[in-house]
Amino acid sequence: MSLTLYLLVFCFTAWAMQVALFNSYRTARLITAGLWLPFLFISLVYRFISGYNYNYADAHTALSNTSLLSSAIQNYALPVLGALATTMGVAAVLRLVTKRFRYTYQASYALALLPAVLLGYWYINRTLGVIDDLPALYRVPLSTLTAYNHALPQTQREPVKVVPKHPGAKHLFLIVDESITGSALSLNGQEANTTPFLKSVAPELQNFGIASACTNYSAGSNIALMSGLQSHELPDKDRKALQQPSIFQYAKKAGYTTYFVDMQMGRGILQNFMTLHDLESVDHYLYVTEEQLEQPYYERDFFIADLLLKLSKSDEKVFVYANKVGAHWPYARTYPPDSTFYRPVLSERSILKSRKKSTNTYFNSLRWSVDRFWEKLMGGITPQDSTFIIYTSDHGQDLSGDGISITHASVSNVSPVEANVPLWCLDKSGYTAMLTKPKPNQQTHAQIFPTLLMLQGYAPSHIRSRYGPTLYESPPANRVFLSGDIFGRGANSIIPFRY
Ligand SMILES: [Zn+2]
Repeated sequence: MSLTLYLLVFCFTAWAMQVALFNSYRTARLITAGLWLPFLFISLVYRFISGYNYNYADAHTALSNTSLLSSAIQNYALPVLGALATTMGVAAVLRLVTKRFRYTYQASYALALLPAVLLGYWYINRTLGVIDDLPALYRVPLSTLTAYNHALPQTQREPVKVVPKHPGAKHLFLIVDESITGSALSLNGQEANTTPFLKSVAPELQNFGIASACTNYSAGSNIALMSGLQSHELPDKDRKALQQPSIFQYAKKAGYTTYFVDMQMGRGILQNFMTLHDLESVDHYLYVTEEQLEQPYYERDFFIADLLLKLSKSDEKVFVYANKVGAHWPYARTYPPDSTFYRPVLSERSILKSRKKSTNTYFNSLRWSVDRFWEKLMGGITPQDSTFIIYTSDHGQDLSGDGISITHASVSNVSPVEANVPLWCLDKSGYTAMLTKPKPNQQTHAQIFPTLLMLQGYAPSHIRSRYGPTLYESPPANRVFLSGDIFGRGANSIIPFRY
């Protein structure tokens, strides 16, 4: 998209806005200001939180997470207040200027707003978040409208057409942690002792070291993990991730009782592109109960540990997909205050990050939400339980920024650490005892789905031809991840993974 076109569109829309704001016709002035100021406020809130203006990609996230609005306002009280104060300042200046000077734009000039809105809409539809920094008066409502028009259709998934060849591992759990950087764990060589327990039991784990996530944001990585999307299929313009059989469908077909556990969302709100259709293959959908919502945030992962320990003793074949809360921002609430090991730390409400404090707080979170979690889990699982666990995270955290900075899900200047995740297996089923384990630090998220199918007893030939290698086969030659929307709407790019 040429910069010249952008500048032309920007100049015309900005000109149309100011002739309406400084129009001789009072009603035109009031209506324009009445629309502009709230949109400016929204844009400033985003600017103060993420460092850039509200655009198409933000509109997508906002529209699919409207239920999170009140908690977002609490978490980001400082930027919200800052944006409010700035907007009020702008309003005061506007009032002063319109009073003091006489503006001679004729009333009919205000009509220029109509073609400006149409032009802005055409332009945003065309660029989808790439250089579309038009004035907030147009950008905020028109990006939201465009994103709304691009909402994903609710499609049915195709059925599973194959049957398993073997009984599979009896108790099979996939744990997807939240915001855990693989290289931040001392298990994987981090100098700070963030995972003392895991390091002590390292010989019991099949540790694949630092893996690359499919995307650098939660929803993209989770839907890819659930549907077996492969790296070469990114961005998923064909929406395969919404149409291929889910891991729950394969598990049902293989005779498992299926559990989907989401400890992040309360009140049964689905996230990560999951639909009500997907729940048809889930026997037990567990989310944060009203009672658990009242308890400290750092307790939530331990509800998952309790559940998995119980299910590992079940007589039934059980498959679990669990979303932990892990090191979900703000970090300070993800561990008990008396478990503060590294200091000084950020407070729960802090918005301004400093590299030192962010890292300390994050490391405290890892010691609790990863290390202590695994200590509890491994303490209760015995070889008699015939349990197999795969563990990873949805994406990593880039803590290199100071001030107000974003740690993942960025679409420009993306750091590969945003896709840097841990990956290991705990095999107490003996299922993979005879298999050779490839060298660590080469694996990707895309290998998890094929591994789960193998562990559910499906034939290797089907798995390899339809998906790709399991964790026990040669990993892909190049590791890449996607930044931006997984379905390719708006700005997105494929980035080589390094660490
Ligand atoms: Zn996440």
